[in-house]
Amino acid sequence: MKLLILAGDGIGPEVMAEVKRVIDWFANRQGLEFEVNEDLVGGAAYDVHGTPLHDETLKRARESDAILLGAVGAPQYENLDFSIKPERGLLRLRKELDLFANLRPAICFDALADFSSLKRDVVSGLDIMIVRELTSGIYFGEPRGVHDDGEGGRIGINTQRYTTEEIRRVARTAFELAQRRDGKVCSMEKANVMESGGLWREEVQWVGDHEYPDIELSHMYADAGAMQLVRWPKQFDVIVTDNLFGDILSDEAAMLTGSLGMLPSASLGAFAQNDRPHALYEPVHGSAPDITGQGKANPCASILSFAMALRYSFDLNDEALRLETAVEKTLASGVRTPDLLQAKEVATPATTKDIGDAVIDHLEATL
Ligand code: NAD
Repeated sequence: MKLLILAGDGIGPEVMAEVKRVIDWFANRQGLEFEVNEDLVGGAAYDVHGTPLHDETLKRARESDAILLGAVGAPQYENLDFSIKPERGLLRLRKELDLFANLRPAICFDALADFSSLKRDVVSGLDIMIVRELTSGIYFGEPRGVHDDGEGGRIGINTQRYTTEEIRRVARTAFELAQRRDGKVCSMEKANVMESGGLWREEVQWVGDHEYPDIELSHMYADAGAMQLVRWPKQFDVIVTDNLFGDILSDEAAMLTGSLGMLPSASLGAFAQNDRPHALYEPVHGSAPDITGQGKANPCASILSFAMALRYSFDLNDEALRLETAVEKTLASGVRTPDLLQAKEVATPATTKDIGDAVIDHLEATL
C-alpha cells in the first residue's frame, strides 16, 4: 500500500505528524504494510523548487495508491503570481490525476452535537456523505469571461456543461458508496430550470436503472435539498450533485457538525492499474496561519481523512472504523483542542500531540 504524504504549509506538517504516528501504529501493531514516501507541495515546494508542485512529485503521486495532504497556503505567498500560488499545486494534482469525485462526509459525533448550530436531536448521530463532481460543470465550462456589451456595460459569462460520461462516472461513485452504506442515493440539480440539470437527472436515473437497481434512488431540486439539509439531515444517506451545488451543499452540511478541525475529505479518480482509484485525502480546513506553530491545531480532520484512505483505497473497513471510534472516544473523554472547547468550559485545552497520544491510547485499548 503506497502512501505519499504531502504535509504542505502552516499547520499541515503539525497535523500530519499525528497522522504519521497513526500510520506507524497500524504498521507496527496491526501488521499493515505501508510504503510511505514524503514530498513537498504548496509554499514549501515553491521555496525549494520555485513551483508549488514539482513534476517529480506529480510522478510520485501517480505511482502512489493514496496521497495524504495536509494544507497549502500562507500569507507570505499571497502576492505570488496566480500560476505559482501554493493552491495551484493542489489544483494541479486534482486535475492531473482526474480526481472527479469529491467525497465530503458530514458525521456528527455525539460528543460534539452541542457545537452544531442546529438542535442536538437533529444532528446527533448524523452520518451522511456528499459526493460532489469536481472537474467539470460551471467552474470549467466554456465560453467564460467578462466582455463589453458594446453599449457601455459588461457581460459576465460562465457555462454549465456536463457530458453523459461525466455524469455517469460520478453517479457510479455515489452508488458504489451507497452499497457500502444504507443503500440510498439522492441526486440534486435544478432540472426545473436548467437543461443541464435535466440531463443530470436522466443520466443518474439511467445508471441507477441499469447498474444499481438495488439502490433506492431519489431526486431533489438543489434549493429544496439545501432546505432539507437543515430541516432533517438524517433523511439522507448519499447525496450526489454537480460541482457548483456540491460546493455550496457540502459546506452547508459541514457546518451541521461543528468545527472545521473535524472535517475530512477524499477526492477519487478513475481506477488505476491495481484496481484502486487515484485518491487524495485531505482535511477540509486550510493552513490556519493564525495558529501555526502553537500546538493548537486539531489533527482529527487529517486523522479521519486517513481513516477514509483505509476504507476507500484499501478496503480496510474494520481498521477505518477502529480509527474513527478512537477519535470519537478521544473527544468524548474531553481531550480536545481549543476549537472544540466552549468558552465557558475551564478544561485545559489539549495540544495537537495530546490528541495523537489519546487516539493511539484508544487504538491500543482495542487490542
Ligand atoms: P483555514 O481553514 O486555514 O482557517 C479558518 C479558521 O479555522 C482559522 O481561524 C483557523 O485557525 C481555524 N482552523 C482551521 N483548521 C483548524 C484546525 N485543524 N484546528 C483548529 N482550528 C482550525 O482558512 P483560511 O484562514 O481562510 O485560509 C488560510 C490559508 O489556507 C490560505 O492561504 C488559504 O488559501 C489556505 N487554504 C488551503 C486549503 C487547502 O489546503 N485545501 C483550504 C482552504 C484554505
